[in-house]
Amino acid sequence: MSDRYSIIPIPVAYESREGNFRFEKETWLIAEPGLERETEVLAAWLSRVPGIEKVKIVSANSNISESLFMPSGHERNKPEGSMILLSLEPELFFNTPEGYILDIAPSCIQIKAAESAGIIRGAASLWQLALGNGRKEEQEVSIQAGRIVDEPRFSWRGLMLDCARNFFRVEFIEKLLDLAAFHKLNVFHWHLTDDQAWRLEIPSKPELVQYGAFRRDLRYQEEYKKGGYYSQSDVKRIIDYAQARHILVVPEIELPGHSIALLASHPEYSCKGRADPTVHFEPEDRYGIFEDIVCAGNDDVFVFFDDVLQEVCKMFPGPYVHMGGDEAPKTRWLECSDCRERMNTLGFVSEDSGYLPEKLQAWFMGKISNLLFKYGRRMIGWDEVIDGDIRRDTIVMSWRGIEPGIHAAKRGYDVIMCPQTRACYLDHKHNDEPEEPGHLGVCTLSDSYLFEPVSDKLSDEESDHILGGQANLWSELIYFGRQAEYMLFPRLCALSEVFWSPRGKRSFEDFSQRLRVHEHRLDALNVCYYKGRFF
Ligand SMILES: [Zn+2]
Repeated sequence: MSDRYSIIPIPVAYESREGNFRFEKETWLIAEPGLERETEVLAAWLSRVPGIEKVKIVSANSNISESLFMPSGHERNKPEGSMILLSLEPELFFNTPEGYILDIAPSCIQIKAAESAGIIRGAASLWQLALGNGRKEEQEVSIQAGRIVDEPRFSWRGLMLDCARNFFRVEFIEKLLDLAAFHKLNVFHWHLTDDQAWRLEIPSKPELVQYGAFRRDLRYQEEYKKGGYYSQSDVKRIIDYAQARHILVVPEIELPGHSIALLASHPEYSCKGRADPTVHFEPEDRYGIFEDIVCAGNDDVFVFFDDVLQEVCKMFPGPYVHMGGDEAPKTRWLECSDCRERMNTLGFVSEDSGYLPEKLQAWFMGKISNLLFKYGRRMIGWDEVIDGDIRRDTIVMSWRGIEPGIHAAKRGYDVIMCPQTRACYLDHKHNDEPEEPGHLGVCTLSDSYLFEPVSDKLSDEESDHILGGQANLWSELIYFGRQAEYMLFPRLCALSEVFWSPRGKRSFEDFSQRLRVHEHRLDALNVCYYKGRFF
């Protein structure tokens, strides 16, 4: 069967039947009220399938069987074209809102789900099947009859794109959102600020992008600035596009480290800049970890971020905001009289070792998470964020390996697994050949595929804290969208199966066979993907 359907990620259950569904000259999408957006997305997806010419949307009134006939004003005959029905059936039982049934009969296709999110996941399976195995345009598009019953293993199936080191335009992000939905991912983690750029327009603080969104490219002798930022309307466009595909957008604003581009417009929020007005920063064009971070001893910092986060929460309707919290060296805090005074006041001093700046970081991130709580949001942080004590509703992204995530889950924190250790960091090389692009390590396709987010070290109850996993694409060495595609694919296909499919269904051998078919689909969608060895 898998050679017939070859869906990635592999569905929970499927069976084939006699016959084929053929796409005729016209394809009719018939949907119940309430599924208008999902229907439009499926129509857009199918119209990109070579061989499918016309896709027409018909909204059903209340009874979908009525709509099996021509719309009002015409004779009640079955339409000339091929038919696809989308229907909500609240009585269908799934463990998650994303469960769906895809019924393929020679006469029509039906996508059924209890909720609209399930309709989109079923539509993604149909899109894959319609793209088939890369047939030529003149051939007819047909799908083997059968039935798929499917739902995800994890509720968090993420993709992070670093838009700070390299600026990706909105059109490219939309392409990635479609490819994420194609693989049934449901979270877009948007890394918007870092040492190299501040990309998010905050209306009340235009200086943030004015000084933070463009940086001097140090590779050129002459003055040459590169960069860009996302305006309010860009953000709305991305959120709308993602929402239609049932993908949650999670913005990331990095604190207290990785913040040079913020300090470019507000040097007074650095430890050195508060007392010395000559201190000056520019967005970095080098990579690494920089010692200048946001001062924890300056109360104005929290007033400033209260305003910023209030605006961020207005822009992003989702329940989470990622606040970074990683790789913050404490050199400046230890030198800073304001930070030292804060540590004295809070008692973050020990007789043996002096100041305890790690506790100050936990306190700092705690203040930020309280600001978010005020606006009804939960904070996500990289795994360093729980080095001290922080609100239990903080969500931990385990990146330094799986151990920090195991530790966090045992302490009762919700965890998203995205370890850099040969699993989820897709800026790493596909293989260890010197010609291969990438840096900081190697992560082969099989490494990604064999990654398991739930460790045997966790009890059942602790395992419930593992919300899922995420692929992360950092862009220090990525200058163009095409390069991003090459780093993402096909490892993102492998991870989508890790995050969606039942553990017992996963087989790398079987996946590799399906991938051969799937590559034709990626070709049809104009994706630039890696074609070298998988091990
Ligand atoms: Zn300070």
